[in-house]
Amino acid sequence: MRSITASFHALLLAALMRLRSQRSATPSAEAEITVATSDRERLLAAIAASPVEVAAIRFNEYRALACADHDQAEAAMQAMFDRLAHGIGNGGTIARVESDILGVSIEGGAAAIEALRYLLCQPLALGDATIRPTVAIGVASGSSSAETGLARAIAACGPAPLVELSSESDFALEQELSAAISSGALALHYQPIFDIATGRVTGAEALMRWHSPSHGQVSPALFVPILERSRLIHDAGLWALSTACRDAAAWAEAGLDLTVAVNVSARQIQDRRLSQAVLRSLARNGLAANRLELELTETAAMADMASTRALFSDLRAQGVRLSIDDFGAGYSNLNYLRSLPFDKLKIDRQFVVDVDTRGDSQAICRGIAALAQGLGLDLLAEGVEREEEADMLRNLGCRLFQGYYFGRPMPSDQFIAFVEDGERHRMLSSPVHRQLATIGERLAS
Ligand code: C2E
Ligand code: CA
Ligand code: CA
Repeated sequence: MRSITASFHALLLAALMRLRSQRSATPSAEAEITVATSDRERLLAAIAASPVEVAAIRFNEYRALACADHDQAEAAMQAMFDRLAHGIGNGGTIARVESDILGVSIEGGAAAIEALRYLLCQPLALGDATIRPTVAIGVASGSSSAETGLARAIAACGPAPLVELSSESDFALEQELSAAISSGALALHYQPIFDIATGRVTGAEALMRWHSPSHGQVSPALFVPILERSRLIHDAGLWALSTACRDAAAWAEAGLDLTVAVNVSARQIQDRRLSQAVLRSLARNGLAANRLELELTETAAMADMASTRALFSDLRAQGVRLSIDDFGAGYSNLNYLRSLPFDKLKIDRQFVVDVDTRGDSQAICRGIAALAQGLGLDLLAEGVEREEEADMLRNLGCRLFQGYYFGRPMPSDQFIAFVEDGERHRMLSSPVHRQLATIGERLAS
């Protein structure tokens, strides 16, 4: 009973072949797979022979893995089986009772279950990739029959996670991303923020970059939502925060007066420990709180008002500044502007594109500028690509700018050079900085 039997393999393979051939017509990989009964019966006999607890352990990633690569899914399931066998030693019986569920008779109560969970959730190497398995464990004891006990344990696992067909590549990316976080393959680039009133760079927004071994450079617009759908955003978000604090501390060390803005997603805000993590990151990297800004979209801020308010009260009291990102693109109820004390609005790029020629965008930007002024908030236009857009926005009351026209996102050392070069050339000349200085002077006049 300690290995998945050949008959089971044959059955599963046949079922998977059926499943794969149905996939174009089926919206998810939810189809049931017939499982060999012999192992199950041996497990039932073991449960009946001694009245122990029975646990059902669902390997949550199995179905998504099977969608992407059946052999890999089977290898992963076998590895989970082996881990479980190792975990229970000689004292229990294991059977694969559903395609993604292992049933086990077990002694030792909750502590034993938690020890098994810990063991099963350790990173698992699969070929070149490493996955972080998650499990759902249902337990039943004192049932009238072994069959009932097993059925109750399986039911207690809850429903299997849905696997969307479109998530096939997402899943593979998620596993790659997980490895990228642990191996330090993510990077942060910094996009300059320019203040036309002073003609200087005031800081930068930190933007995540990922060079995937198999996909090359992947856009954060693609991989950040994948991080958000998995629990990886917590690790990646903390990494970004800490890296941005470290780099901004180096800027201060180099004598530059700059702030750093870090994006925070809705999932992160729901983590009550976020404000502590931010403060720890500042302290560990020796960065003053007023040099850090967090960017939240309206939707993220609104998703859980209680969490957002708690985050705000802790962080603002310490001097961290907060911006609304993509302003105008999400939430239409502006009431939150009264209850959540933001410091800055970032006008969404959709209102910036061609604002010099589009009357509707001008009306919206004018309205946003009046709103910012009335509420005492800073106003930044992002995604500015052309001088005419910058001109128009400045006329509409905008002072802070970010966009390819002023500077692209770049690694920290290049950003330092960019700012130092700008300072050095403010009165001299260099193609890019002469251009920046001219824009600054002209727009400020
Ligand atoms: P965002 O926060 O709105 O970031 C601004 C995006 O606009 C960036 O895209 C930036 O490279 C791009 N951009 C800047 N200037 C211009 C311009 O002149 N023209 C155009 N067309 N685009 C411009 P990027 O770097 O691809 O990031 C996309 C999104 O991914 C970000 O949008 C943000 O939502 C998310 N993201 C990036 N890094 C992080 C992160 O560390 N944490 C979280 N939670 N999200 C992140
Ligand atoms: Ca942003
Ligand atoms: Ca934005």
